[in-house]
Amino acid sequence: MKIIQDLQEMTAWSKEQTVAGKTIGFVPTMGCFHEGHLALMRQAGELAGQVVVSLFVNPTQFGPQEDLAAYPRDFARDQELAASVGVDVIFAPEPEDMYPAGCNTTVTVGKELTGQLCGASRPGHFAGVATVVSKLFNIVRPDLAVFGEKDFQQLAVIRRMTEDLNLGVEIIGHPIIREQDGLAMSSRNAYLQEAERETALSLSRALAMARTMAADGELHAESLTATLQKFILSFSGTELDYISFVDQASLQPVVEIDKDTVLALAVKINGRVRLIDNGFVAGGEK
Ligand code: AMP
Repeated sequence: MKIIQDLQEMTAWSKEQTVAGKTIGFVPTMGCFHEGHLALMRQAGELAGQVVVSLFVNPTQFGPQEDLAAYPRDFARDQELAASVGVDVIFAPEPEDMYPAGCNTTVTVGKELTGQLCGASRPGHFAGVATVVSKLFNIVRPDLAVFGEKDFQQLAVIRRMTEDLNLGVEIIGHPIIREQDGLAMSSRNAYLQEAERETALSLSRALAMARTMAADGELHAESLTATLQKFILSFSGTELDYISFVDQASLQPVVEIDKDTVLALAVKINGRVRLIDNGFVAGGEK
């Protein structure tokens, strides 16, 4: 497995692969790998001849009060894990190479997809994501890229951007990988203290509860929301960022849930750890 830091070297490597007739599958990440990341890398390997994983903790997608400095990093462990699933290249650029002095262009996707959910509580986040992903696509030049459904709004934003800007990259969504007890895997789970681990289950349990209620015939988003809100707040130290039943494609809130409705959740634990989760609730495919 190659480690590439230099942007031009990355592009040159990709061009060589393309000339040799190989396809490139790409998985953008911020590192601190867990099974969720590895599943995306395996899928990229099944779909493409070569797999590139970028490892870049992108400063522009963090707000001023967010956890950029504290974000967990372990490059040695990440290298081992990526190699174990057959990754060909880790692309790990430096922030000053990605954003040199004078850099002054931002990619923004419209408010319909970015104004609500995580976009409401993290202003500027999706502009940071859209900009870095378009830069990474231009540097790595992949045929396809795999993103997790865990970050379901991000996936919708990337799909929109890729289509709108004719980037020519096939976007693949990968289902959420969970711990045995249902907690969605996340690099930020490392922030959870022992006692908070139980509280973190409030998200996946709320999803399960919504599914049971929907199966029993409760389809009104407002009454489901009220019940789930109470349930989540019954766990100690929880604070709701959002709880929303939205259409999977438009991300707009729905009145009555159906098979295209996704329940999206963001919960802050003890004012420190912000976790997200989502899933279909009424017979969807997730
Ligand atoms: P991150 O390093 O957290 O930015 O995530 C890199 C990629 O891994 C994104 O496409 C995420 O959606 C995806 N990802 C993170 N956690 C999971 C998970 N539990 N299941 C599936 N994909 C995930």
